[in-house]
Amino acid sequence: MVGETSQTIVVAGGSLAGHTVVTELERHGFAGQIVWVRGREGTAPYSRPALSKELIQGKVTAETIRLPVPQPYGPRVRIMDGAVCAGLDPHADRVLVTQPDLSERWIDFDALFVCTGTQARVPEAFAGLPGVHSLRTLADAERIKDRLAVRPRTVVVGAGLVGSEMAASLRSCGLPVELIVQGQLPMEAVFGAELGRFCLERHHANGVTTRLGATVTALTAEGPVTLTYDDGESSTADMVVLGLGAVTSCDWLDGCGLDLSDGLGCDEALRTARPNILAAGDVANWRHPLFGHRMRVEHWSNASAQARHAVESWLAGQEGRQPPAFADVPYFWSDQYGLKYQMVGHARGHDEVHVEEAGTGGYPFVTYLRGGRIVAAAGVNAPRAVMRMKARIQADLAGDPTSEEVYAR
Ligand SMILES: Cc1cc2nc3c(=O)[nH]c(=O)nc-3n(C[C@H](O)[C@H](O)[C@H](O)COP(=O)(O)OP(=O)(O)OC[C@H]3O[C@@H](n4cnc5c(N)ncnc54)[C@H](O)[C@@H]3O)c2cc1C
Repeated sequence: MVGETSQTIVVAGGSLAGHTVVTELERHGFAGQIVWVRGREGTAPYSRPALSKELIQGKVTAETIRLPVPQPYGPRVRIMDGAVCAGLDPHADRVLVTQPDLSERWIDFDALFVCTGTQARVPEAFAGLPGVHSLRTLADAERIKDRLAVRPRTVVVGAGLVGSEMAASLRSCGLPVELIVQGQLPMEAVFGAELGRFCLERHHANGVTTRLGATVTALTAEGPVTLTYDDGESSTADMVVLGLGAVTSCDWLDGCGLDLSDGLGCDEALRTARPNILAAGDVANWRHPLFGHRMRVEHWSNASAQARHAVESWLAGQEGRQPPAFADVPYFWSDQYGLKYQMVGHARGHDEVHVEEAGTGGYPFVTYLRGGRIVAAAGVNAPRAVMRMKARIQADLAGDPTSEEVYAR
């Protein structure tokens, strides 16, 4: 048993980070009450990465992607589905919650875990247009899926992780797909030019057409959707899917006095300036002790690792121990056309790239170096090589934390 029966912990956010905080508190036998405000989606937590992969392709259903619950929640867990945190008074340790019937109430807490993640970036002018979709939630994915039977001519705008995966999945469903790439290569911001080129070739080999160096400046939806580009050209589509990145869900914290410069600012142990308010997942911005600079990581495994860590930090504080720093090396994967892309580390600030072949298929394997040290690695169908690099990066950087100034240059 940890904590006291009189204590209340509020967990804001009903996806992986929130789910993991709640299950960790339960696993530790937290004696107090947990109020879990799960957000507008109104669903039990599910695998978000599956949305743009297996779910769109019809290989799984909403039921089969639910996150497993190790054991039924105890009686002291109060789940508030459809409710959102709408405000925070950090000096009085209370959070304002708007319930589904729009009534509001303040809830006092002893600790607050902020796990409100991110939401799809949708420019105001593109919001709510018929035939235009973004993809963040199960409901978004099901709306897109409902349209697939008529094989709509589809344009995917944006070639980051979600845009590239959607182009691949929709093409795998037999749809005619055009991918709009703002730069010259898909996923270039994540992987750099070498893997970006490989990614582009895979799209072309699978029949996706691309429009490179193009920015959509306007969308009009009268019948088919018309897309206008920055060079004055235009095209039409039956369905448009926006993959324009994500913005943090922090607006409910506006004016609370905590650092909101990019997500919710935390120390190395994931505590905000108020040590009983912690953050985990896509929303958390912390200083990574190995990379030596602040970062926010929008990856699945980071959300669960940080949630476990945030609980550990809080427990350490309760027991008068020094909370540990969160030093996991970031990792993500992406599935496209039957290939698994994986990346470990953080390539920001790299000044050297090595490309070789690894794994089955002899696909490119890229290592990113800074100052002669490996800071990241990425490969295709090469899980062992990627995971070996994770251990190496951890060990290499452990001896040499780099200053923020180096990265700023
Ligand atoms: C389509 C898609 C595919 C992806 N694929 C991959 C992949 O292949 N690999 C990978 O590593 N990562 C992938 N990701 C990223 C991964 O899903 C995220 O990193 C992960 O979901 C982050 O979890 P989280 O709990 O921090 O936040 P989120 O998943 O963003 O969840 C935040 C939760 O908070 C709730 N919420 C928001 N505001 C409030 C509020 N005010 N009060 C209460 N609740 C609130 C939301 O409704 C939501 O339930 C993908 C993401 C998407 C959208």
